[in-house]
Amino acid sequence: MKKRTYGNEYGFQTRAVHTGNDVDQETGAIKRPITMANSYELPYDPSDLNWSSAGKSIYVRNGGSNQKYLQEKLASLEGGEDCIVLASGVAALSGLFFSLLKSGDHVIFSSVTYIAVYRLFHELLNTKFNIETTLVDTTDPVNVEKAIRPNTKLIHIETPGNPTLMISDIRKIAQIAHAHEALLSVDNTFASPFNQRPIELGADFTVESLTKYINGHGDAQGGAIIGSTHYLNIIREQAQINLGGVISPFNAWLIMRGVVTLPLRMRQHNENAQQAAEYLESLDCVRFVAYPGLPSHAGHGLAREQMAPGFGGVLSFGLKADHDTHNRFVSYLKVITSAVSLGHDESLIVFLGENDERQYLYPEVFHKGFFRFSVGIEDSKDILGDLQQALKKVNLL
Ligand SMILES: *Cc1c(COP(=O)(O)O)cnc(C)c1O
Repeated sequence: MKKRTYGNEYGFQTRAVHTGNDVDQETGAIKRPITMANSYELPYDPSDLNWSSAGKSIYVRNGGSNQKYLQEKLASLEGGEDCIVLASGVAALSGLFFSLLKSGDHVIFSSVTYIAVYRLFHELLNTKFNIETTLVDTTDPVNVEKAIRPNTKLIHIETPGNPTLMISDIRKIAQIAHAHEALLSVDNTFASPFNQRPIELGADFTVESLTKYINGHGDAQGGAIIGSTHYLNIIREQAQINLGGVISPFNAWLIMRGVVTLPLRMRQHNENAQQAAEYLESLDCVRFVAYPGLPSHAGHGLAREQMAPGFGGVLSFGLKADHDTHNRFVSYLKVITSAVSLGHDESLIVFLGENDERQYLYPEVFHKGFFRFSVGIEDSKDILGDLQQALKKVNLL
C-alpha cells in the first residue's frame, strides 16, 4: 500500500477530508485506528537513541501516531511547514511562550486576547520570569511600531480578538516584526483556517484552540502551533516533551474526525452569524453588535481583506436593559445554550457582566455588560426565532 499525500494542488476541502488519513497497513481499514499504546517497539539496539527525540515514536509524550496524523492535517490547512498538537489551546500558547522566550526578552501583545494570554504576560511571565511585556491596542499597527524595543522578541496578536472581535492587520504587523527581527504569533481560534491563514499573511506562527471550530463538536480539548520546523522542533522538545502538555490519542482522533467537516461547518457558521448580527443590529432594543461582517464594525474593511470567505461564527452584543434583564433573556432561550466555549455545532451564549477584570481595555460599549454569542449551525430561522421569542418574554420586543 502506498502512502497517499495531498499537496497544495488539492483544495482546502479535499485536504480537510484526506490529509493525515491513509489505509491502515495491517487491516486494510480505510480509516487509521486509534492507537492508545503508551510505548512503541524499540530498535534492536536502543542504547544510542535520543530519548527526548520527537522524530521517532518511542513514547506517547514524544509523539503518538494519532497526534502525528492530526499534525499533518493541520499543517496543511494552515499552510505551514510543521505543526505540534497539545492538550489544549492554552497549552499551545504557553508552550510557545515558555519555549521561545527567556528572561530579558520583550513581548508585545494585543490588549484583547484570550484571558490566559493576558494573565501569562501581565501577571506571570513578567513578574516571575523577568520577561518585559507591553500590552498594546494592535488594531492600529502604529501602536505596535511605537512599542518595539531593541529586545523585542515576540509580538502576539489575536484577531478577531476574544471577546470584542477587534481586528488587527496581520500583514502589516508581520512586516513590523520582521523589520525588527522579532517573531509574530497569531491566535487564529476565532477565524479558523477556513476563514484566515495567518502564515500566508506573513506570521511566523499560528496558534489555535482545537477545542473550538477545528473539532467543532464540543467534545474534545486540544491546541495547535503551526510554523517552521526550525522553531517547532525547539517548541516540541520543550513544550511537549519537557513541559509535558501532550494531547491524548483519543482526543487527537476525535479532533481528526471533527476537522473533516470544518469547511462545511464554517460556511454555515459564517452565514448564520452574519444573519444573526444583521437581525440584532436592526432592533431598537439592542445597544450594540460587534461582528466583523457588519459594515458598522471598525475592522470591517480589513476583515474583508484578510478574512475570506467569511467572518466566523462569534459576535458580541448588548441590550438596552439592566443586568437582571440580560440574565432573564438568557433564561428564556430554548435553542441557544448558556455555556462558555465557542465554535461548537450548537449555539452558545455567555453573559459577561460589568466586572470583567479587563473591562478597562475594551471599547466603552462593552463596559455595561454584554453577551458573547457563538452562533451554531442550526437552522438560521430557529436561531433568530429563539432570540426573538426571548426578547419578547423580557418585554424588549
Ligand atoms: C478558547 C480559546 C483559547 C484556549 O483554548 P483551550 O482549548 O480552552 O485551552 C485560546 N484562544 C482563544 C481565542 C480561545 O477562544
